[in-house]
Amino acid sequence: MANRIAQVPYPTNEPIFSYAPGSPEKKEVLEMYERLYTTTTEIPMRIGNRDVTTDETASMHPPHDHQHQLGVYHKANKKNIEDAIATALEARKAWSQMPWESRAAIFLKAADLVAGPYRAKINAATMLAQSKTIFQAEIDAACEYIDFLRFNVQYMQEIYENQPENSSGIWNRLSYRPLEGFVYAVSPFNFTAIAGNLSASVAMMGNVVVWKPSDHQVFSANVLMDVFREAGLPDGVINMVFGDPEMITNTVLESPDFAGIHYTGSTTVFKNLWRKIGTHIDRYRSYPRIVGETGGKDFIIAHPSANPKEVATGIIRGAFEFQGQKCSAASRVYLPQSLAEKVIAEVKSDLKTISMGSPADFKNFVTAVIHRGAYDRLVAAIEQIKKEQDVEIVAGGGYDDSKGYFVEPTVVLTTNPHYDTMSRELFGPLVTLYVYPDAEWSNTLNLVDQTSEYALTGAVYSQDRYALEEALTALENSAGNFYINDKPTGAVVGQQPFGGARGSGTNDKAGSSLNLLRWVSPRLIKETFVPASDYRYPFLEEN
Ligand code: NAD
Repeated sequence: MANRIAQVPYPTNEPIFSYAPGSPEKKEVLEMYERLYTTTTEIPMRIGNRDVTTDETASMHPPHDHQHQLGVYHKANKKNIEDAIATALEARKAWSQMPWESRAAIFLKAADLVAGPYRAKINAATMLAQSKTIFQAEIDAACEYIDFLRFNVQYMQEIYENQPENSSGIWNRLSYRPLEGFVYAVSPFNFTAIAGNLSASVAMMGNVVVWKPSDHQVFSANVLMDVFREAGLPDGVINMVFGDPEMITNTVLESPDFAGIHYTGSTTVFKNLWRKIGTHIDRYRSYPRIVGETGGKDFIIAHPSANPKEVATGIIRGAFEFQGQKCSAASRVYLPQSLAEKVIAEVKSDLKTISMGSPADFKNFVTAVIHRGAYDRLVAAIEQIKKEQDVEIVAGGGYDDSKGYFVEPTVVLTTNPHYDTMSRELFGPLVTLYVYPDAEWSNTLNLVDQTSEYALTGAVYSQDRYALEEALTALENSAGNFYINDKPTGAVVGQQPFGGARGSGTNDKAGSSLNLLRWVSPRLIKETFVPASDYRYPFLEEN
């Protein structure tokens, strides 16, 4: 019996290793990269305690080296998905009753495993699968994931501590029950940490999960499953399946026990999922929780008082780190006439120092985009720009897919603030600049607010406090994460809870208790110590 009210270890953000020349972590991660690169890995699905293989496989390739095969993963048939659901529901019987301290311990152990023995492996797998530089892999697969796990354990405790008032003779208690059924987690390619968190945060609150990672992240998702197993997560709590997303989703959504979806990915897919859930609403036991963080068309707006070098650095880091494939990446920039020339010159000069290539070469700041589809989408946009009158390429614009899907960091200048690349999410290393007359600051804020369907992240650069205040008000609903004098990317768990509204998602703020609250269904228990024994209230005695 747990005769205690435990306090979990207070979380702090995981320190980022430097990977400087000669450092032990650099040597270790490069050795692991080489080992994974030269081994052929076969990845089964994980359903309960079974490693499930099928007749159908797909091969995995590093985006920066697309002719090299990392291995294969096994794709589900409908029966596998039904099996994953049944296995999750069976596991729910014990897991939903597991004391929260034990759930906390499992995920705290997972965090320590990633921080220690699995750090090099999860980073190397992310470098290979998603083509991240070591720094981008470290801040994602290691640090952000560790932070998600440790901070969420703290938030879980805070949620459980939140209890209602009592009155004389009465004790009120709230139990934060897991949802009745299973949760479907669907994750994107771009962050190993997001992929792990979509399943782990739900499971932490006592739920069971069927998790479908992106086809382009399977290689690193597999390492996450190894970590869960080693941390002692019971079989069947998180079941990982791969394959045709339509078939998997349709099978999942047919189940009356479908209790919620934890999704991150593009807006179109999310809207489609929501629509399907609506169509099936009569068959579900409960109203499913629908949580989705989706696309963005994230902005930087500079006021005439801004420092041009700082704005340029915000553009370079905000638009081109991880090849612009962060949902928060800056992809539209509004520059005042008085600063535009200086900012563009700084950006061009910085770009000359940036090299592109394999993440195994630590000199590279930019690597490849994720797959053929992304490459083709970006090349088409670049070629279209070359044909248009109101837009020009001022830096970059090159591409080469002979070895990997490489697209140069590209800066585009337009005189049309509604040009296609000012409003459409391209998800790559292409940023579009629009120059506004200094006197049009207030109208330009309006333009920023009205130009895209999204409202994920945005940044304002200004030294003028009145201008900042005006921007904060005018752009109140334009971004769920709003940055002042900083790039719009790089949210840190525990510091900048992340998510956007409008077309960018349900804004349930990953990395905060707001998100965890979506995965519980509270039950109120009222206990009366001396129950009433006469139905008559005093007012009835009047006659
Ligand atoms: P994607 O939409 O292609 O895929 C996301 C997931 O949905 C994958 O697991 C994919 O297999 C699945 N999927 C695809 N088609 C489906 C279908 N018809 N039915 C069911 N599932 C389907 O996105 P991606 O390319 O992996 O990731 C990039 C997108 O994710 C961008 O739009 C980006 O802005 C967004 N994103 C948002 C956030 C955020 O926090 N807001 C974070 C990361 C990525």
